[in-house]
Amino acid sequence: MLDNRKENRYLTLKFIKNNSRILLVMEWTLLLNSTFEPLRVVTWKKAIIMVMLGKVEVLEEYERTVNGIKVSFRLPAVIRLKRFIRRPTFLIKFSRQNLYVRDKGVCQYCGTPFEHRELTYDHVIPRSKGGQTDWTNVVSCCTACNLKKGGRTPEEAGMTLIRKPKAPIWIPLMTKSLGIDDPPSSWKDYLYLNQELSS
Ligand SMILES: [Zn+2]
Repeated sequence: MLDNRKENRYLTLKFIKNNSRILLVMEWTLLLNSTFEPLRVVTWKKAIIMVMLGKVEVLEEYERTVNGIKVSFRLPAVIRLKRFIRRPTFLIKFSRQNLYVRDKGVCQYCGTPFEHRELTYDHVIPRSKGGQTDWTNVVSCCTACNLKKGGRTPEEAGMTLIRKPKAPIWIPLMTKSLGIDDPPSSWKDYLYLNQELSS
């Protein structure tokens, strides 16, 4: 079995090497756990290797076909692990940039979109009142709203948040960091499933 896998892996790598122009193709594959929960975004090359090793089943494919000498296949868009793996605890670093990405560049008080450089951040419960600096108590904020709110709670300032802050689901951040602004349409059912489950 192991030998077969090694052989398959070798053939796959050889195939990719012999078709190096394919390397220019930038397609990403969404990897799901056996439970359909999104785990990670991988390159299509990695995805193909996992398919060849029999570790995953292909759920969705892209239109794009890659032709080799002996093999041709459509690039996998969504793959699912055959065996369940314990979800790794993936903590998104709490940073100003990630905060702006989570909030989609929108001031969480007035709802206006801004360039990241125009934004600041706000402690919903002020630090002076025991508010923590974490995903659930810090939001993106424009300077006008920040000034208006000052060191008060939203209630005291008569302001309301457009949504309750929480730790971000990491897939959107991951795709964003890869430069994928809009995940492929073939991923959407699976990402949506994830959002429903975790809300
Ligand atoms: Zn604002």
